[in-house]
Amino acid sequence: MRALAAPWVLLCAGLLASLRPAAAAFHDFPKNVPIGALFDDFKSQEETMFLHGVKNVSDTNNMFNIIPGTEPVRGDSQLLVSLEVCKLVSTGVWAVFGPQKSQGSSIVQSMCDTMDIPHVQTRFDAYQRRTDILVNLFPHPSALGQVLVDIVIAFKWRSFTIIYEDDDGLTRVTPLLSVHQVMQESHKKPVNHKLYTITLRRLSEDHDNRKLLREIKNSGDTDFIIDCNIRRLPEVLTQAQQVGLMVAENRFIISNLDMYTIDMMPYSYGSSNITGIRLIDPDEVHASLANTDMAGEVFLTEALLMHDAVLLFGETLKNTIHSNVSGQSLSCAGGDYWRHGHSLVNFMKAKTAVQGFSGKILFDNEGFRSNIELDIIEVVMDKGIQKVGTWNTTLGLNLTRVSPDVESGSESLMNRTFIVLIALTNPYGMRKEKTIQLRGNDRYEGYGVDIINDLSMMLGFNYTLEIQHDNKYGSRDPKTGEWDGMLRRIMDDEADLAITDLTITAERESAVDFTMPFMSTGISILYKAPTKAPPKLFSFMDPFSIDVWIVMFFAYIGVSLLLFLMGRICPYEWTNPYPCIDDPDELINQFSFKNSLWFTIGSLMQQGSDIAPIAVSTRMVAGIWWFFTLIMVSSYTANLAAFLTVESLSQPFQTAYDLVNQDVIQYGAKSGGSTVNFFKDSPEEPFQRMFHYMNNTPGLLPGSNEEGLNKVKNENYAFFMESAAIEFIVERHCEVKQYGGLLDSKGYGIAMKKGAPYRNALSAAVLKLQESGRLMALKDKWWKEERGGGVCASQDTGGGTAGLQLENVGGVFVVLVAGVILAVFMTLIELIWSVCTTSIKEKVSFRQEFKEELKFISKFHGSTKPVRKYNQEEEEQEEDNMPIAPYPYGFIEGQQQKDTNHHVS
Ligand code: GLU
Repeated sequence: MRALAAPWVLLCAGLLASLRPAAAAFHDFPKNVPIGALFDDFKSQEETMFLHGVKNVSDTNNMFNIIPGTEPVRGDSQLLVSLEVCKLVSTGVWAVFGPQKSQGSSIVQSMCDTMDIPHVQTRFDAYQRRTDILVNLFPHPSALGQVLVDIVIAFKWRSFTIIYEDDDGLTRVTPLLSVHQVMQESHKKPVNHKLYTITLRRLSEDHDNRKLLREIKNSGDTDFIIDCNIRRLPEVLTQAQQVGLMVAENRFIISNLDMYTIDMMPYSYGSSNITGIRLIDPDEVHASLANTDMAGEVFLTEALLMHDAVLLFGETLKNTIHSNVSGQSLSCAGGDYWRHGHSLVNFMKAKTAVQGFSGKILFDNEGFRSNIELDIIEVVMDKGIQKVGTWNTTLGLNLTRVSPDVESGSESLMNRTFIVLIALTNPYGMRKEKTIQLRGNDRYEGYGVDIINDLSMMLGFNYTLEIQHDNKYGSRDPKTGEWDGMLRRIMDDEADLAITDLTITAERESAVDFTMPFMSTGISILYKAPTKAPPKLFSFMDPFSIDVWIVMFFAYIGVSLLLFLMGRICPYEWTNPYPCIDDPDELINQFSFKNSLWFTIGSLMQQGSDIAPIAVSTRMVAGIWWFFTLIMVSSYTANLAAFLTVESLSQPFQTAYDLVNQDVIQYGAKSGGSTVNFFKDSPEEPFQRMFHYMNNTPGLLPGSNEEGLNKVKNENYAFFMESAAIEFIVERHCEVKQYGGLLDSKGYGIAMKKGAPYRNALSAAVLKLQESGRLMALKDKWWKEERGGGVCASQDTGGGTAGLQLENVGGVFVVLVAGVILAVFMTLIELIWSVCTTSIKEKVSFRQEFKEELKFISKFHGSTKPVRKYNQEEEEQEEDNMPIAPYPYGFIEGQQQKDTNHHVS
């Protein structure tokens, strides 16, 4: 017999229970009413509850005394089951209960059908149909499907995945496939099918479903319905937990009515919302079994329904006690049937209303259980299972707690602990510079850390900071479509939030959710600050270009020449040298060529000279020249101040576009950052070219802003980065500067898992921080004050206008020295020239004359110089022979005498 192994029956036990009429008044009612039951397991829960039901029936009525008799027979084949049934019917059983497994049950079902013996079932039957002879206390699959539909509608699920185990389960979830149709009808609005996607995934038969669950997780769905056998449920949930599916933002509905029987606490810590349904309130069962040896045991729904089935049968017997029902021994071989079978079933279905563990046991016209009352339950962290609503066939769903979707986000944040990712990017996240060893969150500080801290205080959550060591924020690999960096970790549930200078982009929004931006920014360029041109020696020449200087020189020569010529031509410039003589023999002209040059240079230098023009024409020339010098000198003075104090700045480029068509300055952006992606995705052709240049030239995409800054400082490299980061850098590194405006406009947000229920609460809190001015204060703190902020600002303004350095005016000194040296040479030349002419004139040796001259000079004494007389006598004689020249006018004799004796050089 064992060789005929059947997959469905582990153990088949025959059980006979005798229901005896206690009162003799019912003379035609049998003394003992035998009923049979078949169980899949030896000492199964169903058997225990069956016996408990039998006991209850006898205890609670005064008409029957129940003496159950059991005769367990082991067997594991269909043949054995049918033999058991034959054995039972031969004893004249009035009904057959069980078994639970589908194959055994259908054999029993067909045999009972043939012999018209009432068959009482308490199992989930996916294909439960109306047959006269069957009573099933388990709710019909369509009723269970309806509960799921109602919950999904109440929770406003759009896209969800149904994870089911077998075809039986599929019948339970089938009504869900048209849930959106139901929604459409109730809202009278067409359903956008793109938004409503239902995915069906079947668990594999082997016990490792991690791969499947990982795929489900990567699909991005956050809402799931799990339909599987209760024995398998812990395994499925554990694996879901292992692949990171049991996280806060995910929601589960477990369709199995026995969810309450397993310990759900281990699955509650991921904070996923787990909703279930139950037909039986375990507290009632617990209370009813309190004083029995079954106290503390947790019974499955089907087992408890077995108790209810016996109660129902007992109640039916009470109702049929006045009728002519009698038992009949049947033979499987004889083709017999029991004539009272149908009436008994009809009594059970229609006339009896009994209160069991599963509520009031009533049946509809079809013979399926009606007036089903279910509890909606939820797994609550640290508390276990709690009832959150009810469902019944007539009133539908009644949730006492609103769906987690509508629930206020801040409540769900209370006392939760988040793993918050930060990157070591100044000033969003930094290690504290302390000599003592710090632990935990205390190790870090920064703008992002402060924001998270503020949010945690506002919303009441706890957090653990974790560093993203590779400093990658998250970008999608164009080939594999896989995300990396912080976003990957959020998607994999390794972290809950990420805060740094994480730019909100459309592409990233497809993978994670962001809060409202806490800072706005845009792409700009960081490059070396324009350098001051080194001061030039002859910078006093700068106010005029070299052309102006040349033209001025020629103007000076020209005007001097003109004056000289006009002076000679103009008769009024010829004046009487001796005003006392009315009719002089000769006239003199002050505008010798030398004097003309002296006059013009005197006025050009704003000094004037003793020479004054007399004639109108020369005065005109002089006037014009003075006007010219006035304008030129004023212009020079004005320009000189500007040239000497204002740095001449060299700006190699103005905007990003200037960088496109050149190969002197290299440029790039942070690798994998939103900036480089801006160029990648930009429709503008120049930006496309820039992206290809950056991407294809090695070393142009540094891994962090710090590296980028170093490149800017040490190489001829322009770094595209976000203005907020540039602002931070230029406060501290005065040798670099922002070039050009913003290429785009965007913001930084806090990233979290897609569909995270606390997004709104966080966004609202970020807005509050913004409105209260807290974000601005934090920005000032981290940008301008902490970690060397404001260094460059003080350099710029503190010093005021810089005084002129020696370098700025050095050229003037050079000119002075050169002029002086030239003048010394001129003096020497004049000395030599004078000595030379004197020696020739006096016919003395040059040497002697020069010696005498040097002797006089070296004395450095007195302001008179005696005239040396070499041929005194000859001269005197000559003088005696000469006619006496008239004294010039204005000279007195004594004076004349003196002048001739003392020649002052
Ligand atoms: N904020 C950028 C991001 O979120 C990083 C810096 C950049 O690309 O300039 O990727």
